[in-house]
Amino acid sequence: MTEQRKFRGNQRRVTAYLGLGSNEGDRVGFIQQAVQFLKDYPQIKVIECSSLYETEPIGDEYTDWFVNAVLIIETELSGEELLDVLRDIEARLTGMNRADAANAPRSKEKRGRVRIIDLDILFFGNEVLETSYLHVPHPRVHRRAFALVPLLEIAPDMVHPSLNKTVAQLHEELPEPEQVLLYGTRRPDERR
Ligand code: ADP
Ligand code: MG
Repeated sequence: MTEQRKFRGNQRRVTAYLGLGSNEGDRVGFIQQAVQFLKDYPQIKVIECSSLYETEPIGDEYTDWFVNAVLIIETELSGEELLDVLRDIEARLTGMNRADAANAPRSKEKRGRVRIIDLDILFFGNEVLETSYLHVPHPRVHRRAFALVPLLEIAPDMVHPSLNKTVAQLHEELPEPEQVLLYGTRRPDERR
């Protein structure tokens, strides 16, 4: 889609940073489908995509490793409108792939929560947004290596608007980062 068709031209345009994650089924495929949905979406221009990373699940909720990536986009949408778009893409991708995921071989009882796709707004320009549905910057972005490592690759100098620290500083200050490996570099004995 050309620039003119993406944007009306007279609207305020914001650079936003999106986190993408999947820990179920064709994880890389789901991330790629989500990126394609975003590329096809009017009023969203995808500027850059990080590499894909394979990341250790955190806490008791999840047991399976994720594939994660971060996208830089430009958009004329408001933060709330962007969240609606992301939730719509999550619902469409989950709906389209739920049957495949349900048929995948596994011992369900032993497994934690699975996500076909999770799309988060990490930063929305340098705005700080607090509504009942939306918290920006994402409340956990500064504590999560799975968000900070891909951000470090494509936006190391991005300043967290309420902590006033760069992505590189936040990454350096992580006390106990979970494992984040470039996709394809995880050793076979580490695989589930
Ligand atoms: P998480 O991403 O923390 O694992 P969920 O994806 O299940 O959790 O959370 C979904 C809800 O989180 C969304 O319905 C949305 O209203 C809320 N939310 C608040 N802030 C954000 C944000 N910055 N990005 C995405 N979702 C957000
Ligand atoms: Mg989410």
